[in-house]
Amino acid sequence: MEKNKEIIRLLNMAYPDAETELDFHNPYELLVAVILSAQCTDKRVNQVTPALFSRYPDAYALAQAEQSEVERLIHSCGFFRNKATNIIGASQKIISDFGGEVPSTVQDLMTLPGVGKKTANVVYSVAFGGDAIAVDTHVYRVSRRLGLSKGNTPLKVEEDLNRAIPKELWGHAHHLLIFHGRRTCHSRKPDCENCNLKEYCVYYGENNE
Ligand code: SF4
Repeated sequence: MEKNKEIIRLLNMAYPDAETELDFHNPYELLVAVILSAQCTDKRVNQVTPALFSRYPDAYALAQAEQSEVERLIHSCGFFRNKATNIIGASQKIISDFGGEVPSTVQDLMTLPGVGKKTANVVYSVAFGGDAIAVDTHVYRVSRRLGLSKGNTPLKVEEDLNRAIPKELWGHAHHLLIFHGRRTCHSRKPDCENCNLKEYCVYYGENNE
């Protein structure tokens, strides 16, 4: 645990500004943005959401939207048909099952169309301040390289991280690991020479013996 705390401390030093890079003002906007961010950059999502939220400011508006108009607005995010179906469907379920409010538990969030464990954890953590580590592709890769997990599925990595990191740090650790994956520990060519975690990194140790 001491080594893991040190890893988190060093990540904090490297990325003092780590937080979600999606623009949002409330849980509804965050939920929609996270669904749109699958296989798409946050930057692209942020280009699309102002017009989308201006046209559909809440779940009630989006629940009644024309599929074709939503598809047109989110077209550049990729997988636009599926994503349009999911954000409209999620809005309808928020109204029918949750009184128009985005639910605030992981379990309830996962009943919404297009919402898996990762998306539910992000919304639970970022919008509601819950303790959860969402495991996306960056968190998965970086955690395994650093030796925080040997898990071979996102769920196993999440379980390992939950054991490796103090609970009160889970939400922030998610952002730190994403920032590290985006800015330094790249998928194909990690920038190990400029990484302040070298001495703790299993991957670096194995590849620089
Ligand atoms: S030393 Fe290299 S592989 Fe290890 S965390 Fe840093 S960038 Fe990633």
